[in-house]
Amino acid sequence: MKRTLPFIRIREQEWMDDAVRPAVLEGICYLLQFTGEKEPNLQYSRADRTEDYRNADGSLKPYKSVDWYRTRGGDWKKKTGELNADAILSALCERTPRKGGLWSPRGSREPYKILVVQDKLYSPKNERYVNGIAQEWKGAIITSLGARKLVKERFSQYFRHLAMHEMGHVLGLVPKERTEEAVDNGCTRNHCTNSCAMRNGSLMEKGLLNGFLTPDKNTYPDYLCSRCQEDLRGYFQDKS
Ligand SMILES: [Zn+2]
Ligand SMILES: [Zn+2]
Repeated sequence: MKRTLPFIRIREQEWMDDAVRPAVLEGICYLLQFTGEKEPNLQYSRADRTEDYRNADGSLKPYKSVDWYRTRGGDWKKKTGELNADAILSALCERTPRKGGLWSPRGSREPYKILVVQDKLYSPKNERYVNGIAQEWKGAIITSLGARKLVKERFSQYFRHLAMHEMGHVLGLVPKERTEEAVDNGCTRNHCTNSCAMRNGSLMEKGLLNGFLTPDKNTYPDYLCSRCQEDLRGYFQDKS
């Protein structure tokens, strides 16, 4: 059975660099073209500081603002400023209540949720810092932290790459059952060994050292190889 693309909700933390939004949108829209969806249902919003996510007694409201998720990821007001990426990801995978606290009707399709933040993300599960982390068919979180030192041109490319990579995982890339042009490095999804947005950083270093990746001047590929394009079409489009 072919999948249909649900609503995609992207939320960005306040005070984000203006270059982030177009890059994230470009990256995600680039991927969506391979799903065959002519008019993807997509909403991009930036949090504003007045977004009220706590009740008067300090408890969290059911409405999930960007800061709601950041709070779920740890006490971000503490000195370390690190967030638990795994905790945020599992919160993203929960059902979404509407703004008034009402839950969407049972059986209605959950949107794919993408969160864009500026925090340092740590994944206890992977025992390392991450620039992004995703759960297939659910959502992803990405951070701009690693991009701060990049010059403007590279910054946009980096963000297109990062958004594309994590959205690619949300859209089921790289399938576990794919064994060619793919590597299983213990994540929930595989990574691609071609010059492709679905390569990953640590894989890139290891792969170049061990000779199973071809050197690629383009550190942040912002495109999909034809094999990954084919996998995306396979999920969402009829072959007829
Ligand atoms: Zn990855
Ligand atoms: Zn690929």
